[in-house]
Amino acid sequence: MTTQVATPAAPRPPDADLSELRAGFRGALLRPADPGYEDARRVWNGMIDRRPALIARCAGAADVMRAVDFAREGGLPLAVRGGGHNVAGNAVCHGGVVIDLSRMRAIRVDPARRTARAEGGVTWGDFDRETQAFGLATTGGIVSTTGIGGLTLGGGIGWLARSYGLACDNLVSVDLVTADGRLKTVSPTEHADLFWGLRGGGGNFGVATSLEFRLHPVGPVLGGLLIHPFEAARDLLRLYRDLTATAPPELTCFAVLTSSAEGAPVAAVAVCYNGRAEDGERLLRPLRAFGTPLLDGIGPLPYTGQQTMLDAFYPPGLLNYWKSSFLTGLEDDAIDTMLAYCADRPTPLCHMAIEQMGGAVSRVAPEETAFAHRERPYNFLCLGVTADAAEAQACVSWARRFWEAMQPSSSGGVYVNYLGAESDEGADRVREAYGSAKYGQLSALKAQYDPGNLFRLNQNIRPAT
Ligand SMILES: Cc1cc2nc3c(=O)[nH]c(=O)nc-3n(C[C@H](O)[C@H](O)[C@H](O)COP(=O)(O)OP(=O)(O)OC[C@H]3O[C@@H](n4cnc5c(N)ncnc54)[C@H](O)[C@@H]3O)c2cc1C
Repeated sequence: MTTQVATPAAPRPPDADLSELRAGFRGALLRPADPGYEDARRVWNGMIDRRPALIARCAGAADVMRAVDFAREGGLPLAVRGGGHNVAGNAVCHGGVVIDLSRMRAIRVDPARRTARAEGGVTWGDFDRETQAFGLATTGGIVSTTGIGGLTLGGGIGWLARSYGLACDNLVSVDLVTADGRLKTVSPTEHADLFWGLRGGGGNFGVATSLEFRLHPVGPVLGGLLIHPFEAARDLLRLYRDLTATAPPELTCFAVLTSSAEGAPVAAVAVCYNGRAEDGERLLRPLRAFGTPLLDGIGPLPYTGQQTMLDAFYPPGLLNYWKSSFLTGLEDDAIDTMLAYCADRPTPLCHMAIEQMGGAVSRVAPEETAFAHRERPYNFLCLGVTADAAEAQACVSWARRFWEAMQPSSSGGVYVNYLGAESDEGADRVREAYGSAKYGQLSALKAQYDPGNLFRLNQNIRPAT
């Protein structure tokens, strides 16, 4: 179905009369002078400092429809905020409208059908608490304050991905307000082309007012952190490589080179075994028998414990600059590069992480969803982080140099959800995030559902002409 969108009118000035929008709007409309505006414009990444003309804090789908119409008719830039975790700051814009979903947090679990429908502003912490009340869960982000909206639409890597696929692989349906201001239910049987695009195509196609997920019986898991001194990093990363090369889908391990709470450099492996504890204990024996850890915090955990154990490492407000690539493997040369850059970090908060992919992620047929990088064994991230603006440039430069040095091991692709701003990464890199073949398909889909490119403040796919 083709959706017609009116040509945008001349930009409406920021002080436009809001009376029409305000009439019948259930949520709050925040302008720069309003109480609460300063908090509402902040996102997780403290490096982002933008001042929208209007923050439309929506209470439901009707508000979202009106706000989409308002931005489109006024020719205003439009940003969509779910959990506010996007590191490029795509959830907030300068001078335009932000559709803020943070008050839309309702969740309904259907334990009999093993599904849950959650509104677009729900975080993984909200979602896990509700679903775990029934012993159920689906793949979600590993930090509980991340939004389900942005994470799922871009793919969704988490502790359960190797067991049950990415978060987007568990989508059953999405209620989506498209650029014409209308709400569509999008599923394998309704707007199936759009359903394909929503699973990896990011926020390009509309505002997801609610998302319905398939759930699985989960927990307790065998999980936690194993921490070694940095001197053990080379051997630990080699052991990590061996373990992950043969691990069954129930086992997921992420490796991190970071700092202890005292600021000392450390090497850590975070694990989650989603199966019988005895089997997990056996599989993890070689890892836990290695060297002399500073901490072996691996043990049985409620799934909600696993999902919040890293929250303290990722507080809001720090200045973050991330670079990322999928890796083709974890050869010795790549490990040496990681050691060299992590031994010489500009701040103790700067760190790197390797996320293990594979399992159920690679078992989904490539053509089934827009997500493009299913066959990659690892995803790599280097994170320049500081609390001090004076150190920010050094962190940016370190992350760029580290990422560049890792390129011989890179697949060329990048995860949509870890991509920086297009102005920084370049348009080619955005294409790489979707893969060139899928970019063409997504671009045609964009021309169909958002020909005026209203939803462009994201990892933007340009409509085909
Ligand atoms: C601390 C931290 C931990 C993370 N951990 C993981 C992880 O474990 N796994 C993983 O895969 N990713 C992870 N990410 C990356 C994360 O997936 C992206 O940052 C994602 O954009 C966050 O979604 P959000 O809703 O919080 O983002 P927001 O910043 O609110 O939104 C980002 C973009 O997503 C789109 N969007 C958000 N909600 C909606 C919606 N309801 N409808 C339509 N579009 C929407 C919009 O385009 C928006 O610009 C992490 C990020 C951080 C900062």
